[in-house]
Amino acid sequence: MHMTAKILVSACLMGHAVRYDGQPKPLVHPALDRWREEGRLVTICPEMSAGMQVPRLPAEIEPGKSAEDVLSGHGRVLESSGGDVTEGFRQAAENALALALETGCRFALLIDGSPSCGSGFVYDGHFAGRRQPGEGVTAALLKANGIRVFSDRQIETLAALIGLAKE
Ligand code: SF4
Repeated sequence: MHMTAKILVSACLMGHAVRYDGQPKPLVHPALDRWREEGRLVTICPEMSAGMQVPRLPAEIEPGKSAEDVLSGHGRVLESSGGDVTEGFRQAAENALALALETGCRFALLIDGSPSCGSGFVYDGHFAGRRQPGEGVTAALLKANGIRVFSDRQIETLAALIGLAKE
């Protein structure tokens, strides 16, 4: 039987008001409409799935550490107040991975810049709005488990890949 490739997507990208500041970050693209009609989309906000509230304080991976460090117990995720939210971010990543595996997602389309969903850049841990190359905790765990992660800016690449493979 032909299996349609499923795509895990960030809930805020689908227009859900789940970000820390209570805002959505909707992505408008014809491929998304098509994938929705084809039943390919599996929506999750990893942070909300781990019980985080809206609104919540901004959080960043601590300076000098990566998402891999967080996953291996060698780095923390901190709120702007200094609160340690590492466990919640690990749980968020585990929830997203479990859902992706359960529903057969081989791709993920995630909002860049987030300490969970970022895949191209994250913030440097000083809450100063400075970007640096890197990924969020959820994106890193998905990638480590063979799921191909694309940022919102790479939707064309994902669309081409899915179109080419006729998956
Ligand atoms: S965790 Fe991901 S889906 Fe949830 S608000 Fe942050 S970027 Fe959006």
